[in-house]
Amino acid sequence: MLLHVAIARFKFSTSCALQLYRTQPVTSGYENLDLKREEAAKALPGAGAHESPINQSDISEESMAKELQDYCAAAAGRETAQLTSQIKSHVDEPKQEQASQINAPVVNYSEQEQPAQPGPVFDEHSKPLLQSDAAEPEQQREVQPDDDLKQKHTQPCPDAAAGILASDRAFVSAESETQFKRAEFVRKGDGQQSLPQSFIKELVHALDEERVVLDQDERASHGKPVHSYHIADQIPDVIVYPKTQEEIVEVVKSCNKYKIPIVPYGGATSIEGQTLTPLSGVSIDMSLMKAVKALHIEDMDVVVEPGLGWIELNEYLKPHGLFFPLDPGPGASIGGMCATRCSGSLAVRYGTMKDNVLSLKAVLANGDVIKTANRARKSAAGYDMTRLMIGSEGTLGVITEVTLRLQKIPEASVVAVCSFPSIRDAANVAIATMHCGIQVSRVEMLDEVMVKILNDANGTNFKVAPLLMFEFIGTEAYAHEQTIRVQKIAQQHDGSGFLYFDTTEEKENLWKMRKEALWACLAAAPDAEAMSTDVCVPLTRLADCITKSKEVLDASPLMCAIVSHAGDGNFHTVILFDPLNEEQANEANRLNDFMVHTALSMEGTCTGEHGVGTGKMKYMEKELGYETLKTMKKLKHALDPNNIMNPGKIIPSHVCM
Ligand SMILES: Cc1cc2nc3c(=O)[nH]c(=O)nc-3n(C[C@H](O)[C@H](O)[C@H](O)COP(=O)(O)OP(=O)(O)OC[C@H]3O[C@@H](n4cnc5c(N)ncnc54)[C@H](O)[C@@H]3O)c2cc1C
Repeated sequence: MLLHVAIARFKFSTSCALQLYRTQPVTSGYENLDLKREEAAKALPGAGAHESPINQSDISEESMAKELQDYCAAAAGRETAQLTSQIKSHVDEPKQEQASQINAPVVNYSEQEQPAQPGPVFDEHSKPLLQSDAAEPEQQREVQPDDDLKQKHTQPCPDAAAGILASDRAFVSAESETQFKRAEFVRKGDGQQSLPQSFIKELVHALDEERVVLDQDERASHGKPVHSYHIADQIPDVIVYPKTQEEIVEVVKSCNKYKIPIVPYGGATSIEGQTLTPLSGVSIDMSLMKAVKALHIEDMDVVVEPGLGWIELNEYLKPHGLFFPLDPGPGASIGGMCATRCSGSLAVRYGTMKDNVLSLKAVLANGDVIKTANRARKSAAGYDMTRLMIGSEGTLGVITEVTLRLQKIPEASVVAVCSFPSIRDAANVAIATMHCGIQVSRVEMLDEVMVKILNDANGTNFKVAPLLMFEFIGTEAYAHEQTIRVQKIAQQHDGSGFLYFDTTEEKENLWKMRKEALWACLAAAPDAEAMSTDVCVPLTRLADCITKSKEVLDASPLMCAIVSHAGDGNFHTVILFDPLNEEQANEANRLNDFMVHTALSMEGTCTGEHGVGTGKMKYMEKELGYETLKTMKKLKHALDPNNIMNPGKIIPSHVCM
């Protein structure tokens, strides 16, 4: 019965991915703008024409206690095996580093000296994905920005012996990711290694048979990353579909008793391996918790369950003239959005998830339920537990209820696009726009590669050049005035083809096209997978960071397309590569490393919005420092001493308390 939930979810994602972007007519309300209807028609064709079944038998206390004891002993044995395997992987490491010396060109990570180095040229068998005319590398040396950190990585933290050695096991997984020896999606296990029957019975007792799922296919679909290249070493042992917070409390208490890992599962749109289950365990699927519990129209807030999607929420809110302004991946859930501290194209105006959650409830590892705040717009009552949970990626607790701040749907909005000779020009216009204090609600930037991909996927005809997309909101007159101001700024930076769109359908289609850029990239290279980078720098450094990155990307044989939340200094490069091809995988990794280290040298971050998962763990120490990570680990240990909450994510295993 529950398979249908997974199927529905898959269908939703797929339909979003496969829908073609319809084009709509353009209407002009702003005759004093230098906007040409026929040019809009060219850009948007059609424009201008307008317009397991479980036996719930009784279990004796004694048999349960024995089973628990056996399970813990078996778990301890697995820990030792994992540790051995981890050490072995590190013993093997120098060989792999030598191998990478062969392929990797020089990258110097000090900000002053970062010449744009050409990437390696793949041999004829490696099927470069796009740029066959890549230049020969001038020099070939090893990429080694983090020797000191790597040294630490070879020494697992002794205090990991406490509780489950989860992060160590996962660390093996994260390291293997960087080696890209992937042979299949789920490499080893099928879960259920030695899960106690008494544990399963407790789950069934807490929920019901139908909502405790042991089906292999369903577990495999929850174990694999849906939207990322990350490798799955294991799949969950069991999936549970709770309907209430009370059921989650029971599930979590059982997991804590048996020291079984928990991975909350929202919309599964995260792209850094956040929902992977490297230690198997229980996947808590929130898709049956989608209720809107209370809408306070006058207070402009809403109380929702975590499984509700942002798109569903906005459909619900629309008749009330309200909306929730965070727009990550289509299909993302409010719980997952809190857990990843997501943002999206509107963050430049409304802030990120941390700015838009008033309060939340969460089940901690021991089964305690906390409510982090009341509904007041602001509060200075003690530690900010709300923001501690936001961005914790399921490692501190399971979010069961969220109170969100809402916004009024603007009276009017205009979307404008403009092309530029270079990515630097486009970035400079985004920066200048922000400096002018213009109230944009979106400033998105695409490089010419992404424009071409979107044109091909959508039948649009935008000039194949770096493109800025703006949205202005407010009253009609205000949106109009802001559009004119930005048009002038664009002209000063050699902007051309300034077009605007103001019908609802045109605007929706343009933003949908932008939101689904990742899927358009995958359609452009059907055999490839996407590594999506996520660096973010202080606004004034955006032009430098993106220009340096672009030089290196353009010299790479891989297809790399940039899309940026430029108003926030955040950009993603979708690197399309074949993870089975070691040279391509190394190259993708090299490009990612280059951008991260460039951003860090500019006081930026490795992740503006996608979060850490397993994918960005390797950069955490460089970005935040060991002491900060140690403090994170202490916090985690205080709340989750058995390390059952999404183990192996965010904090690298070498970090000791
Ligand atoms: C096409 C596309 C576009 C995207 N665009 C953006 C973008 O513009 N901005 C952006 O920020 N991100 C973007 N993303 C990434 C993704 O949509 C976000 O990270 C999103 O917030 C994840 O939400 P989710 O419900 O899918 O979480 P999931 O993927 O299900 O889970 C993410 C993490 O949250 C944890 N989690 C889930 N639910 C709970 C809960 N109830 N309690 C505790 N922990 C929980 C999981 O264990 C996991 O660690 C995009 C992704 C795609 C595929």
